[in-house]
Amino acid sequence: MSIADNIKNLKLEIEPLKVQLVAVSKTKPVGDVQEAYNAGQRIFGENQVQELVEKYEKLPKDIQWHLIGHLQTNKVKYIAPFISLIEAVDSLKLLQEINKQALKNNRVIDCLLQVYIADEDTKFGLDYAELIELLRSEEYLAMKNIRITGLMGIATNTDIEKQINDEFHELKVLFDGIKLSFFRKEEYFKELSMGMSSDYTIAIQQGSTMVRLGSTIFGQRVIKHWKNN
Ligand SMILES: *Cc1c(COP(=O)(O)O)cnc(C)c1O
Repeated sequence: MSIADNIKNLKLEIEPLKVQLVAVSKTKPVGDVQEAYNAGQRIFGENQVQELVEKYEKLPKDIQWHLIGHLQTNKVKYIAPFISLIEAVDSLKLLQEINKQALKNNRVIDCLLQVYIADEDTKFGLDYAELIELLRSEEYLAMKNIRITGLMGIATNTDIEKQINDEFHELKVLFDGIKLSFFRKEEYFKELSMGMSSDYTIAIQQGSTMVRLGSTIFGQRVIKHWKNN
């Protein structure tokens, strides 16, 4: 199956469920992204700033780029002018830098807070207490150039479906609680980014609004960057 076929089939599968597709194009060439674009895909995810900027420069400007990996504060400036969503914000310090760079670019940048749900110690993200502390902090409340539009999480890399299911369920319950406590009147707080190629059907059953799919669309990657950085 071609990339275009994969995009079309996935759209048929998930769009009726009101779930957005983020095509994760990391490590894949610009030509692959263009093929997905030609098949109608507009949202793409990358996890490396340099690769993201290079692709942004070469590809159509109506693409909505998501940064899905860990972001270092000193690199925010490179993506601040054009990024559509920063999916993996995991500290107040990073959020402050995003706010600062967004102000410089005279815009508001949408962000998801990454929550740590996996039973592994290699993944980034806030735990429950850190999440609450961030949302209650004066520093956060003073920020005018960022908008938290939801939460993001990565489940444990395991074959045990029940575990994955429980982790996504936990994130959905947390999402609903955070919505009620902090964003009740804010309609923009509505995204729950969870689910990758191996677990997206479980994630959708548990209430995902945004799945991040790489290998299902573009084929296997040689190196799984996200495990190393
Ligand atoms: C690489 C990556 C994905 C996509 O992974 P696949 O298994 O290829 O679908 C999704 N989310 C994040 C954060 C990633 O780094």
